[in-house]
Amino acid sequence: MAIALEPCPFCHSNHLHFAHSGLDYCVVCQSCKSKGPHQGELESAIGQWNQASRAAFMHEENQEGASQPQTRYCSARG
Ligand SMILES: [Zn+2]
Repeated sequence: MAIALEPCPFCHSNHLHFAHSGLDYCVVCQSCKSKGPHQGELESAIGQWNQASRAAFMHEENQEGASQPQTRYCSARG
């Protein structure tokens, strides 16, 4: 069974690991220690992780051509 795992949605790392705790599974990033949602089945955990990853990347791509104003907390007006 081939499992396609998207990169980490937080740090884009491919150093991913499956954690199996008790009855559920989750995907763990080895680089930033982020964890995906805990799911009862490994496939679900992967599915949720991939969804989060795609959503994160989509969000980044949208930022370039975004029509909505972005709120930036770090910029100060002088
Ligand atoms: Zn990460």
